[in-house]
Amino acid sequence: MTSELDIDANLAAVQARIRDAARAAGRNAADVTLVAVAKTKPAELARAAIAAGHRVFGENRVQEAEGKWPGIKADHPGVILHLLGPLQRNKVRRAVQLFDVIETVDRDRLARALAEEMTRSGRRPDCYVQVNTGEEPQKAGVPPREVDAFLRLCRRDYDLPVRGLMCIPPIDEESALHFALLAEIARRNQIPCLSMGMTADFETAIRFGATHVRVGTAIFGERPPLVPAASG
Ligand SMILES: *Cc1c(COP(=O)(O)O)cnc(C)c1O
Repeated sequence: MTSELDIDANLAAVQARIRDAARAAGRNAADVTLVAVAKTKPAELARAAIAAGHRVFGENRVQEAEGKWPGIKADHPGVILHLLGPLQRNKVRRAVQLFDVIETVDRDRLARALAEEMTRSGRRPDCYVQVNTGEEPQKAGVPPREVDAFLRLCRRDYDLPVRGLMCIPPIDEESALHFALLAEIARRNQIPCLSMGMTADFETAIRFGATHVRVGTAIFGERPPLVPAASG
C-alpha cells in the first residue's frame, strides 16, 4: 500500500506538536487526547496506528465504521471510537452499539432517540453536543444562542451522559474565535470536554482549552476529495 506513509512517525510527530502546544499554553499534555481520524482509510492503517500504541479513533459514518471496527475492537478491547459525522435517527441503535463517544448530538429528536436506545440497550456512550459556532446554514450543530437550553434538555429531560462540546469552524474564518466561543459555552455549562481542532489548527485549539483534537490528514495522509453522500 502507500509505502511512503509512516503512521508510527506521523503519530509521534503529532504527539510532539501536542506536547509543545500544551506546554506553550501552560497546560498538561496528558489533558489533551488525540483522536486519530481514520475515515476513508482502510482497516490496515488503523491497525498500524494501534500497533504504534494508539487507541483513540474517530470515524464520520456509521456504515463505514461498521465495516472496519468490530473486528479491530474484538482484538483490542481498549480501543475508543468517536463518531464525528452527522447521525441519522435510523442509525442510532447501530451507533450506540459501536461507538464509545458520539460527538454530534445536535437536535431534540436525535437526543430523545439516543436516550431511548441507551435505556433499551444499557450501553451509554458519552455524548458531546455539536455547536454550529459559525451559524452556517448548511452545517450541523446547535446555534450558539440555543445551546444552553439544548444542554438542559439533554441532561435534565433525557438524562444523556453529556460530557463534551464539539465544533467545526467555518473554513474561511479564524478558528480561534470559534474555539474561544466553544470554551466559554463549556465553562458556563460546566462541560468538561472540548473537542476542537483538526490538522490545520489543533495547536490553536489546545491554546483555547481543547481536551480532544481530531486529526486525520497529519496521521493517515490526504483523503480523496469529498463526495456528497448520505450522512450517518
Ligand atoms: C475529517 C474530520 C477531521 C479530521 O480532519 P483533518 O483535517 O484531516 O485533520 C476532524 N473532525 C471532523 C468532524 C472531520 O470530519
